[in-house]
Amino acid sequence: MDNQQMAIPSGSVSLSTPPAAQHKYEFFKVVQGYLDEAARVIELPEYIKTILSQPKNEIIINFPVKMDDGSVRLFKGYRVQHNNLLGPYKGGIRYHEGVTLDDVKALAAMMTWKCALMNLPLGGGKGGVKFDPNGVSRQELQRITRRFFHSLGNNIGPDTDIPAPDVGTDAKAMAWAVDTYMNTVGSLFRQSVKGVVTGKPVAIGGTLGREKATGQGLVYCIQEWAEERDFPLGGATLIVQGFGNVGSFTALILSKLGASTVAVGDHTGYLYNPEGFNPHKLQDYVKKNRSIAGYPGGKPISREEFFKLKADIFIPAALENQIGVEEAKNLQVKMIAEGANGPCSPEGEQILIDRGIDILPDVLANAGGVTVSYYEWVQNKRSESWSLEEVDTRLEKAMKRAYREVVEMSRQRKCSMRIGAYAVALQRIAAAYGEREIFP
Ligand code: NAD
Repeated sequence: MDNQQMAIPSGSVSLSTPPAAQHKYEFFKVVQGYLDEAARVIELPEYIKTILSQPKNEIIINFPVKMDDGSVRLFKGYRVQHNNLLGPYKGGIRYHEGVTLDDVKALAAMMTWKCALMNLPLGGGKGGVKFDPNGVSRQELQRITRRFFHSLGNNIGPDTDIPAPDVGTDAKAMAWAVDTYMNTVGSLFRQSVKGVVTGKPVAIGGTLGREKATGQGLVYCIQEWAEERDFPLGGATLIVQGFGNVGSFTALILSKLGASTVAVGDHTGYLYNPEGFNPHKLQDYVKKNRSIAGYPGGKPISREEFFKLKADIFIPAALENQIGVEEAKNLQVKMIAEGANGPCSPEGEQILIDRGIDILPDVLANAGGVTVSYYEWVQNKRSESWSLEEVDTRLEKAMKRAYREVVEMSRQRKCSMRIGAYAVALQRIAAAYGEREIFP
């Protein structure tokens, strides 16, 4: 986030219509449905499914913040700790006006599967604060962040629960978070708690390669998919929904492989450019202006038109439940790589599968972010700093191994890649419960 508060120039892009859902979307129920299905596929012991069907802790904090005009506003923050069998809870913090406990529970559960799939010694958690980060000043954003992390107190910690950036938060927010936490533990421990959050700026203990990690991981999966099919990424076209951290880095890294982004969209609208956008320029523009609104290099189109465009690859990199029945019927792509968490509704996914459109599922495809977060945490613990090459090499190996495990599982059990990803993760979790059994 930067300093400026931006007014969206009206008429510069067409405004997006609301996402697919006409009715209330119960994200946690959707994720539980996948858990049930994968549990059946691998015959998961019933007691393990029961434990995993609810988070361990659901923390809700109402905290006051003094705004620039002197008024006091009460904010609602959440931290859901889903499971810590394999290690400390791990997962991002979302700032968005639509944040609900249900979403955070769903996202926290997905972090448990993601960390298990990637074989990381971490569990699953997620947090959020319900407000529009574009509607406050930078100073207010800093006070909201600091007060929220202070309120979380000992619920988080480098060996307990480790937040990271998600929608609406970035490295700067993590810098305020770690500084706040360090100031609560006393001078003897300050240096040993750096790992309380990941996704920090490199200057204060972040790792090289974290900012682009989710996009980079997504591209490693897309490369595996392309290789399996002999599909040339050079000359391929993509459309990208959400041009924040995940969307912009995915477009940028794919452009280095010769693929071009012909349409982009965000919360302000959608733009089309058949010649291909320059992802560097667009990323710089969004960093400055907080959205694609007013970007001169494309023609405004509607959300409906965006979903009907012909391209090879679709990268959803915004929010959940963006591809419902209508969008799934309209999409003219060969493959969808889920940068966002939960972008397909189950009904949308079924239509895509029936239409032969491949889906690289979120739990696998966007796991590069948490994987490099883990590398950051390890570096903090060991007081090391790895080169970008080392981070990328490890990430590539980890993503490609997970990709092959998921493909293998879905072939063996004749299930979708999403259920395959859940199944690999659940087998790892089941093995750990099997060894430890239940206390007392
Ligand atoms: P971000 O805040 O950097 O970007 C979010 C983007 O989504 C912005 O471009 C925003 O304008 C757009 N958006 C918001 N509401 C929209 C709407 N209604 N319609 C269209 N676009 C909309 O967030 P991010 O970190 O890039 O996260 C994007 C997605 O990727 C989320 O689902 C997140 O959970 C997931 N994810 C992020 C990471 C990470 O490392 N940051 C890791 C794994 C998964």
